[in-house]
Amino acid sequence: MHAALSNIGALDAAHHLHPFSDMKKLNAAGTRIIERGEGCYIYDNHGKKYLDGFAGLWCVNIGYGRKEIADAAYKQMNELTYYNTFFGTTTPPTVLLAQKITSHAGPNINRVFFTGSGSEANDTWFRMARVYWAAMGKPTKKTVIARVNGYHGSTVAGASLGGMKWMHEQGDLPIAGIVHIGQPYWYGEGGDLSPADFGLKMARELEAKIDELGEDNVAAFVAEPIQGAGGVIVPPETYWPEIARICKARNILLVTDEVICGFGRTGHWFGHQHFGVEPDLAPIAKGLSSGYLPIGGVMVSDRVADVLVNEVGDFNHGFTYSGHPVCAAAALENLRIIEEEKLVERVHDDVGPYLAAGLKSLEDHPMVGQTQSAGLMAAVQLAENKSTRKRFEDRERAGVEVRNHCLANGLVLRATGDRMLFSPPLVITRGEIDQMIEITRKGLDHAW
Ligand code: PLP
Repeated sequence: MHAALSNIGALDAAHHLHPFSDMKKLNAAGTRIIERGEGCYIYDNHGKKYLDGFAGLWCVNIGYGRKEIADAAYKQMNELTYYNTFFGTTTPPTVLLAQKITSHAGPNINRVFFTGSGSEANDTWFRMARVYWAAMGKPTKKTVIARVNGYHGSTVAGASLGGMKWMHEQGDLPIAGIVHIGQPYWYGEGGDLSPADFGLKMARELEAKIDELGEDNVAAFVAEPIQGAGGVIVPPETYWPEIARICKARNILLVTDEVICGFGRTGHWFGHQHFGVEPDLAPIAKGLSSGYLPIGGVMVSDRVADVLVNEVGDFNHGFTYSGHPVCAAAALENLRIIEEEKLVERVHDDVGPYLAAGLKSLEDHPMVGQTQSAGLMAAVQLAENKSTRKRFEDRERAGVEVRNHCLANGLVLRATGDRMLFSPPLVITRGEIDQMIEITRKGLDHAW
């Protein structure tokens, strides 16, 4: 080990402020230092091996340690490390990446605006939507409707679009012009309604909110096709078609946040395809490069792009690293691998249904109220009484106990309150899925 690494934990405590972390607690408990990754496994600095059931942070779709990506980035770095995409220039991998991304979107999406992250992508479409409506002669169409418990990033607009109360409490958010409606979380909030009726009810909250604000004041509705950080809440089948109908009927832009759902996670290239709807704008990131290098973007439909290109002129927005050529080259190679190894089809036809069946087998456990999945994005709902859907009084404790037991047994999962979340690399094998299910069951036994 490198000399400086022998006291890496102490250095971390002294110098590094972690995102989304209680630093006092973390410093007392000690940070896990992850040194290496290969396939679906990561290794800490004590040599302990973990099956990563979470693909880093929902992003390492092709798995760890793919040399092809390192080679593509190295080659691009030697050719052209950086050049900007402002003021009349661009670089070949940036253009090729935009073309490649749109080749997997529907026929109405043909352009991409690049950013460095998913948060920046959300800030980007937020401004773009307002600029679009102003150019359409409707400058009052400014307000964006988002959802409680949604997640759209950590920048000021991203966190405001998100519906996480505990984020809003820090920094006086949300900013003006962003309002929230409820989430289609049937298990927790559906009461006596059937999932189908509850899905319609929650979609119609959008219509009611548009009525309240006035159609001429609403720019867009944004939601993740499946809420990720909010707990992998797969909406009832009635939800998305009704949302799409309302957006169309009331002339507001539909924005699907594809940062997690994109690039094969649900067994489709994009989450909106899973539900058969067509967005006007769609932020992307994470699986775009499988997390090998930071890159994000907004997929822009012809409806919006044509106005931006032909009417707006300058869109005064962009980032130094928009379309960074090395990140773009890595992303392009990542998409080549996803295509060549047919990972989207693999999730749809093979490992996605296999995970769903494995999770179903956990439903006999007294602590499991429901399991839900779409491709390789899944959740186990914990419950105190499964027949009445009664949830635990201390929801955090329930999830944390299962998660910690899994971690001690070499499986990384995430707990969001009383939901255990799964999002493994798309290259995961059936054998590794069996392992995930087995360790999860032991975690459930331990916590029950
Ligand atoms: N949108 C969604 C749906 C996300 O899950 C995330 C991150 O988890 C973001 C946006 C923000 O992306 P980033 O962390 O790359 O800024």
